[in-house]
Amino acid sequence: MIPKISLKPENFNPFRFKKLKDGNVILTSEHGGYAIISEPQFQKLLAGEPPENDETVKTKLENAGIIGLALEKSALAFAKKHAFMACGPNLHILVVTLRCNHACQYCHAAVAPMDAEGFDMSQETAKKIIDTAFFSTAPKISFEFQGWEPLVNWEVVKYSIEYAKEKSERLAKPVQFSLVTNLSLMDEEKMAFLLHHNVGLNTSLDGDESTHNFNRTFLKGNSYKNVEFWIRRIDAFSQEKYWRKNVISALLTVTSKSLKKWKECVDTYDSFGMDQLFWRPLNAMGYGAKTFSFLWYSPEEFVASYERVLDYLLELNKSGKSTMKEAYSTIFLKKILTPYDPNYVDTRSPCWAGIGQVAYNYDGKIYTCDEGRMLARMGSDAFQIGEVSEDPRNTYVSMITSPSTKAILSASLIEWLPGYESDPYKPYIGSCPANNFKATGDIYPKYPTDFKRRIETGILDALFIRLQDADNERIFRTWIAN
Ligand code: SF4
Repeated sequence: MIPKISLKPENFNPFRFKKLKDGNVILTSEHGGYAIISEPQFQKLLAGEPPENDETVKTKLENAGIIGLALEKSALAFAKKHAFMACGPNLHILVVTLRCNHACQYCHAAVAPMDAEGFDMSQETAKKIIDTAFFSTAPKISFEFQGWEPLVNWEVVKYSIEYAKEKSERLAKPVQFSLVTNLSLMDEEKMAFLLHHNVGLNTSLDGDESTHNFNRTFLKGNSYKNVEFWIRRIDAFSQEKYWRKNVISALLTVTSKSLKKWKECVDTYDSFGMDQLFWRPLNAMGYGAKTFSFLWYSPEEFVASYERVLDYLLELNKSGKSTMKEAYSTIFLKKILTPYDPNYVDTRSPCWAGIGQVAYNYDGKIYTCDEGRMLARMGSDAFQIGEVSEDPRNTYVSMITSPSTKAILSASLIEWLPGYESDPYKPYIGSCPANNFKATGDIYPKYPTDFKRRIETGILDALFIRLQDADNERIFRTWIAN
């Protein structure tokens, strides 16, 4: 039976709500505050009983900004969470080659083989890209080198870092670098250069040896052993020479095989001394959906494995055996427990692709984001927003004002999208137009079937249920401390 609703809306800031699996009700405010109360307490609110009648409810609703917060302050809190919209692109992704020596299950159909010609970025294109990036209004610029395997085109990576650093000093605009690599072409010289220039390194580690080598096919050797060697070597070198720990992080792409090996995956990361594990679902970009249906799973299967990983990590943290955190959770916990957004494009609204981040392909074509350039490899230039030229200022202006940039912005602004606009987790989630386009041919998402949204709903449900336990909350707060 639907209860009679006598709640006085003028006494509340806007909020959304839902019932959690444990029977309690979560209420979220527009800027991401939350309160969890029992169902009887919620029913009393609906029946018009003032929250002030129950001290616990009153305090929770005040902390969430649902009552007692002037609308202006609520708007300021919302603005703080969207501070990323105040400037131009800070993340500039350079896809320096389409070649790779691996043939990973979820990616290999898109890879150019090592003997292919014409798929490497030239030094001239790299220079034009860096000149364009320096026109960004962002106070700091991040360059991320990707490929398929960026170390295949090492000379251009090296040149780009040196040129961007020189330009940074000349223009007094800070830069930082990161490189995403499978580590198979790493050597002592490259490692020394990268660490000297403080380049953040990111690799793929898909779990224990059998899972990793199943997912990440490498015919010229043992991919797992190679990654293990270099993670340990880089960590040791960095600590010895620069006193810096954890300069290399890793991503784990979950396939159907990893679902069963979740514990081995966590134990592997722990044994490597990693400070975090990212239990990250497959992405339709890698051609996986059609060609390798055996790698896939339902959102519910993924969430079940995520909960196992999360509980195991909480147990390790509580017993003092490990301080490792789970990265997907940490992104959401920052949104839930702090006034700031962690700037993870996939989970923010708008995603700000084409303005917050830009991807430059090997041939100088510019895309809204990394996923956009992957779609280009799959035959669609729908996400192209420009091309580098001799006039970097003009390139910059035309790319951030291009019609495609505007279309992507509107498609990723979930505030007005059916289903999302009333979702209680709206303050924490986002939508990826490139993913939507790949899945359905439309940049707008379909709420009921949106794979990513269903996974993120499951993750948030799991986090909010566990946040009600003080010990869990204490551990979660250590995960977001840095
Ligand atoms: S996932 Fe990375 S290492 Fe594997 S084939 Fe793709 S680019 Fe190469």
